[in-house]
Amino acid sequence: MKGYVDKALCVGCGMCAASCPEGFRLGDDGVAEGYQELPAESIEDAQQVAGDCPVGAITIVSAK
Ligand code: SF4
Repeated sequence: MKGYVDKALCVGCGMCAASCPEGFRLGDDGVAEGYQELPAESIEDAQQVAGDCPVGAITIVSAK
């Protein structure tokens, strides 16, 4: 599982990177990205931030 961020929607608030740093980080372009396969213990956090993102930019996808 991996976090996916729709960069066209993200407003760069940083919440996802702060709440689930194992799954999300802010890129040089000022918007977030899902950057690695989620550790098993972080999947719940990632699903939480996906629900909490103020613009609904996050989805959790199978990394395959
Ligand atoms: S929580 Fe949503 S809007 Fe905020 S940085 Fe993450 S993807 Fe972007």
